[in-house]
Amino acid sequence: MAHDKTFDVDVVIVGGGAAGVGAARRLSGSGLSVWLLEASQRIGGRGWTIDLEGIPLDMGCGWLHSAEHNGWRAIAEEQGWEIDRRAAAWDKPQPHPHFSDVEQAEAHAAFHAWHERLMSSPPASDRAADALDPQSPWNGYLQAMSGYISGAPLERISATDYNAYERAATEHNWRLLRGYGSLIASQWPGDVGCRFASPVEGIDADGPGVKLTTPQGTVRSRAAIITVSTNVLAGNLIRLPGALDEWRHAASCLPLGCDEKLFFHIDGEIDLPTEQVIIADPRDADSPVFYFRPLERPLVETFLGGRSAHRVSLEGPAASFDQLTASLTRLLGSEAMKHLRPLASSAWSASTYIRGSYSHALPGHAHQRQQLASPFRDRLFFAGEATHPDAFSTAHGALASGERAANELLALLQPAASR
Ligand SMILES: Cc1cc2nc3c(=O)[nH]c(=O)nc-3n(C[C@H](O)[C@H](O)[C@H](O)COP(=O)(O)OP(=O)(O)OC[C@H]3O[C@@H](n4cnc5c(N)ncnc54)[C@H](O)[C@@H]3O)c2cc1C
Repeated sequence: MAHDKTFDVDVVIVGGGAAGVGAARRLSGSGLSVWLLEASQRIGGRGWTIDLEGIPLDMGCGWLHSAEHNGWRAIAEEQGWEIDRRAAAWDKPQPHPHFSDVEQAEAHAAFHAWHERLMSSPPASDRAADALDPQSPWNGYLQAMSGYISGAPLERISATDYNAYERAATEHNWRLLRGYGSLIASQWPGDVGCRFASPVEGIDADGPGVKLTTPQGTVRSRAAIITVSTNVLAGNLIRLPGALDEWRHAASCLPLGCDEKLFFHIDGEIDLPTEQVIIADPRDADSPVFYFRPLERPLVETFLGGRSAHRVSLEGPAASFDQLTASLTRLLGSEAMKHLRPLASSAWSASTYIRGSYSHALPGHAHQRQQLASPFRDRLFFAGEATHPDAFSTAHGALASGERAANELLALLQPAASR
């Protein structure tokens, strides 16, 4: 493409999470000049591995879901990253002092029965909660699962959307020993320029090309790929032209739920389970779940979903660590607690440029994923996990969405090169 002086660059990618990386990889070597405008100081977005005391901790995505058709798994294999292919401990019997084997079997059966009703005869309301059995004593357990799976209660989950994910997903969930976030961050192509700490504050697509306003000035490009989360897009962080109201509305129908991870370090020698999951209170819809010694590491990785995750942003991680300490004391006794030390906490909902965990469709709004994914004229392209029809909420769905948006852009800007 002949470079046109009207523009600073051919393509801007807004946001350098997994979707932005997917788009950048696809555009790399295309002959187009491409810049990333990223609000934070790093690549990865909700993929973020931090190294603490020599242990890689995935604060966001950790599981290579649907590993057989996960694009990140393929990249990891190509590049020799070590993958742990063991089954996750989620469905293993729990060594639980207050949740007997019989109760565990009943709770699993209740979950599977609900799942079966949702898939075979989805409620006319499209509300996943309407497939619950009102008589079941395990509805709190099912709501807790919804907290981990979707970050929101079943009343707010579209059955159509949930089922689309379930039909496409496989049983294989693997892990990367060096961390999922590390893999994502390592894949930024060298020929795509990055401008960090450059939040886009306004997008104007009325004239030729796109004008993107940042605190450092305006960038003019032929086209842009927008990958920010739905909560960012639906909020007031970026001024958008009125013509994009349908995209903003679609984003508001696909909100991010709330999920956070809090890690305890296990100090010294202590008899605690390895690769085992224990739910704090199986009857509490807001219960945390503890993953003991994941990958044999000296850690307890805690998952909080829905309201209990929301509390982390309202009250701060210290208050959540106090509550988790009380729950762990009930499970393990006070002696064991001498060996558990709060190590790190995520804060995704409180993070200005993320604002939650991953997207779910509100009842009646599963079709909005398609609206959100459609290009605007020949110059604005949309990616991000929420735009994927059935691998939404995941890092591999985000990767695929970035590749899809880059292909759409190439087909319009560089028809010959995209074939
Ligand atoms: C606690 C937790 C656990 C998870 N576990 C898993 C898991 O095990 N497996 C899995 O597959 N997925 C998991 N996910 C989901 C997965 O991390 C996300 O679906 C995926 O990383 C989203 O990628 P994305 O590129 O769509 O969005 P993001 O990662 O949100 O990237 C968007 C980028 O845009 C930037 N940005 C925002 N606003 C602006 C602006 N105005 N200007 C410029 N830049 C901006 C942000 O800083 C960010 O870097 C988890 C997420 C969380 C929070």
